[in-house]
Amino acid sequence: MIAGKRPLLAELAGEQWDLVVVGGGITGAGVLLLAAQLGIKTLLVEKQDFAWGTSSRSSKMVHGGLRYMAQGAVRLTREALQERERLLRELPDLVVRQPYLFPIRKGQFPGRWPMAIVLWLYDRLASIRDHRWMSAAELAERVPALGREQLRGAMRYTDALTDDSRLVLRVLHEAAAEGATMLNYAGVEAVTGPQGEHEVALRDQLTGALHTLHVKHVINATGAWADKLSGSAPRVRPLRGSHLLVPAARLPVADCLTVRHPQDGRPVFVFPWQGLTCIGTTDLDHKEDLDQEPAISQREIDYLLALVNSQFPDVHLGEADIISTMAGVRPVISSGKGLDPSRERRDHAVWQENGIITVSGGKLTTFRVIAIDALLAAGLIDQTAHRRLLASPRLFRQAASVPAGLGHPLKPWPGEEQGAQAALLDWVLTHEMVVHLDDLMLRRTRFGNLLADGGDALLAAHAERICNALGWDEQRWQHELTRYRTILQHSYRTPAAMG
Ligand SMILES: Cc1cc2nc3c(=O)[nH]c(=O)nc-3n(C[C@H](O)[C@H](O)[C@H](O)COP(=O)(O)OP(=O)(O)OC[C@H]3O[C@@H](n4cnc5c(N)ncnc54)[C@H](O)[C@@H]3O)c2cc1C
Repeated sequence: MIAGKRPLLAELAGEQWDLVVVGGGITGAGVLLLAAQLGIKTLLVEKQDFAWGTSSRSSKMVHGGLRYMAQGAVRLTREALQERERLLRELPDLVVRQPYLFPIRKGQFPGRWPMAIVLWLYDRLASIRDHRWMSAAELAERVPALGREQLRGAMRYTDALTDDSRLVLRVLHEAAAEGATMLNYAGVEAVTGPQGEHEVALRDQLTGALHTLHVKHVINATGAWADKLSGSAPRVRPLRGSHLLVPAARLPVADCLTVRHPQDGRPVFVFPWQGLTCIGTTDLDHKEDLDQEPAISQREIDYLLALVNSQFPDVHLGEADIISTMAGVRPVISSGKGLDPSRERRDHAVWQENGIITVSGGKLTTFRVIAIDALLAAGLIDQTAHRRLLASPRLFRQAASVPAGLGHPLKPWPGEEQGAQAALLDWVLTHEMVVHLDDLMLRRTRFGNLLADGGDALLAAHAERICNALGWDEQRWQHELTRYRTILQHSYRTPAAMG
């Protein structure tokens, strides 16, 4: 398990490390786990909180990506589908198979038969057979709110859903059980010296103290931030994608729907997630400062509402229906050709400059493959081990002692019931290195996104429990409340709700 309390950086800095992994998103967590399983003495450092970056703000799909296959990225799709099947097998409580519907209207491309061919191949790449045509009548029964104009029916297939930040935490727990060490709120400022003799300047974000670590290998897994540490020419094109979360009663869907936006024809998902309905995503260049938490813009809200109101014409969804929002920045490896954002490929890349290995791009779904590639590039494994690891039947070997249901993508766990909330908080507070209140409300749990009041009532009910567990006095509690509400207002609510 991850240490309940954050270890002291000064103590960790005094130790000898074979490998330092920079970045505590899914990529860094994956590298840490694989390295620990190989017996490499590894430390992961994260500047903010684990999964603070893109890995808590994705569309939460563990999928091959039909869109990528349609763009000809068959290798990426196959890799992602095989990883999807593996995660479904290995983490059945966290990664859940889910029906996906692709409604088809008259005159729309691709129509029924081209989609049937694509899905035949899609399933084949995953070694499953799980798609069929759904008639307009069956579709209307299954999704009554969907507009029926020119509706022919839908292709039904399956992919999977998860809770992305819980997936990162699950990987970190596993890595800790394999002997790895991890630390949040510790940011790398510089890496100097050649491979084998790197000096890593590491800032403790809580005390401000700067420490120097002497390490043999550094893997920079900082996603959208990768160019800041890589030492090479910039390669990452940060693309923002945003989501809306609305009450399921306002837009009820039991399946993940892919619907086309009336303005530009882009496919957008409408899907059930932890008791709400999620709508997303957008895809645009993120020009804001990467060190500020990303936030949805008014234009993106209007775009997503326009999609819903064109595809579900009787729903009349408005801004007042939005419970929360979620915006993330994709670390996309730029083609350098100034392509439309949605046409940039989603493969990962690994490169080396001055001995620092940088890994960026790719997908949540393919984190295991990305991690194995990074270890190869760092010279920590050879080609034979690379092949062996890719073919290895299991990644997760330790029994998970995470409370059942935590992170289940389709269950609003633990809901409103105070006893269940208390049990969950107790477990998280003693096992998951919570430093700030936003760690608890936005990433260990999703209360900040799921509860219409942002969790105000829950926090009032459990204030003493949280303060006792974390050793906070009244002054610290007030400080944490202000910090959490500021983050919530800035990055998880609509601009109008920000006042
Ligand atoms: C809107 C959206 C939807 C998506 N949907 C899906 C999906 O449905 N399925 C899917 O498979 N993929 C999806 N993705 C892609 C996926 O989320 C990302 O590829 C993945 O999360 C990237 O993980 P990462 O670990 O590389 O980066 P991150 O999760 O961003 O982690 C990098 C970490 O590095 C830290 N860091 C930065 N600088 C430093 C430093 N100097 N020192 C220490 N730490 C540092 C950051 O704080 C950050 O936490 C989506 C992405 C977006 C944006």
